[in-house]
Amino acid sequence: MQSPGRANGQSATAESDTAESDTAESDTAESDTAESDTAESGTAQTVAAGSAAEPPFPDADLMYIVDLLPPDEQLRYQEVREFLQSRIRAASIDYWNREEFPFGLLAELGKYGLGGLQTDGTSKLFKGLMYVEVARADVSLSALVGIHNELIVGMIDQLGSEEQKARWLPGLTAFTRIGAFALTEPDHGSDIAGGLETTARLENGGWVINGAKRWIGAGTISDFALVWARDVADQHIKGFIVETDRPGYTATKIANKIGLRIMQNADIVLDEVRIPEANLLPGATDFSKANELLRDSRAWVGWQGAGIQLAAFDVARSYSLQRRQFGKELACFQLIQQQLAEILGNATASLALMAQLARIQEEGKLEMVQAAMAKSTTTRLARASVAMGRSLMGGNGISSDYEMGKLFGDAEILYTYEGSYEINSLIVARAVTGKSAFV
Ligand SMILES: Cc1cc2nc3c(=O)[nH]c(=O)nc-3n(C[C@H](O)[C@H](O)[C@H](O)COP(=O)(O)OP(=O)(O)OC[C@H]3O[C@@H](n4cnc5c(N)ncnc54)[C@H](O)[C@@H]3O)c2cc1C
Repeated sequence: MQSPGRANGQSATAESDTAESDTAESDTAESDTAESDTAESGTAQTVAAGSAAEPPFPDADLMYIVDLLPPDEQLRYQEVREFLQSRIRAASIDYWNREEFPFGLLAELGKYGLGGLQTDGTSKLFKGLMYVEVARADVSLSALVGIHNELIVGMIDQLGSEEQKARWLPGLTAFTRIGAFALTEPDHGSDIAGGLETTARLENGGWVINGAKRWIGAGTISDFALVWARDVADQHIKGFIVETDRPGYTATKIANKIGLRIMQNADIVLDEVRIPEANLLPGATDFSKANELLRDSRAWVGWQGAGIQLAAFDVARSYSLQRRQFGKELACFQLIQQQLAEILGNATASLALMAQLARIQEEGKLEMVQAAMAKSTTTRLARASVAMGRSLMGGNGISSDYEMGKLFGDAEILYTYEGSYEINSLIVARAVTGKSAFV
């Protein structure tokens, strides 16, 4: 299908069309103001009305967040971003439609180092901007990259034994191995910390795991699952590496999701699954030990919230510059311009919030309250932004072929996982009132 705005992985593909309409506007007061504002902003690439050049901010980074990276990370950022836009963005749509996992694309993500962000020593801002750019290309793959780095590589690196690190980290960081993070259960989501029912019992020098997990990302395709289970001896929740080929482990794909359709979420049943005693993560003998990593993974979803909005902006801008109604590009209409400005404003506010989060994270000052506020805020804005983008594209906004429909569904998942919007709001409000309203 070759129609206006058909997803093509480019953020602004139809600037040549802009020339005609800009010519018509060039003598209005508004366009003059816009021009002089552009000049004042110091942007070298001022675009005169009527020119067919790129708009002055083709990357939509109006607050120059990427410039905060050191030069070597800026270079790497540009290289990865180009790869994601050219190779992943458009290609992901068919996989999303078919609910299929793109193993070939995973290997390519590995080549660009996206499996090793947690341990390669790059800055928090760089890692966050990588999450943004993967989400901008495809939200499902950004979920995989985020869970992989924050919850799988991170847990093994920080809470695992030397033997576990030696066995798993090389393959994980190369993205030739993947793990699944198995915490949520069919009957316990928001109340999992208190309600977790999966059990572990130590018997004849090994652990025996019983229980069920729900919604587990990559559960049907991973090499192992990091299963959280309650030790029947001391009632503590502990983390175990359970290889997925162990007898008694079954994973069934959850189909027909409205978002994150590339991610293979699974219902997992653990029926008398026997694992060696050494598969217990020695640093995860109490759920609170995983808190720091769970806090950081909540922040990762905040980055996803920013990335999906930049994707929505890219698609909406591109479409509005191509689609003509009443003889003009949609981009010429004031109400459309307002929506574009709002989507970009939401995206930029989210990005700026996350950049500051990265700063306090780097200083060791990040706590759960800031991660919860960032996650709930960017995903709330993301929902608003994709709804605007959907509406701006009229009927074509409904279809995943035009990418916006895909983003519209994906935003719903960001709003709910890693602690629902409501639960994260309760964490924030508890911190600022001293009153817990959970129950
Ligand atoms: C696509 C997808 C991928 C996921 N991936 C993973 C994964 O890889 N690993 C994993 O372990 N989990 C995963 N999850 C699970 C996710 O973290 C949970 O869905 C989430 O925590 C919410 O739990 P729930 O779905 O059981 O909803 P519930 O806890 O049943 O909540 C239902 C509603 O009630 C609200 N609610 C609940 N308690 C309160 C309260 N006290 N006050 C106010 N409102 C309340 C919630 O906000 C929500 O709106 C995934 C979920 C999805 C949808």
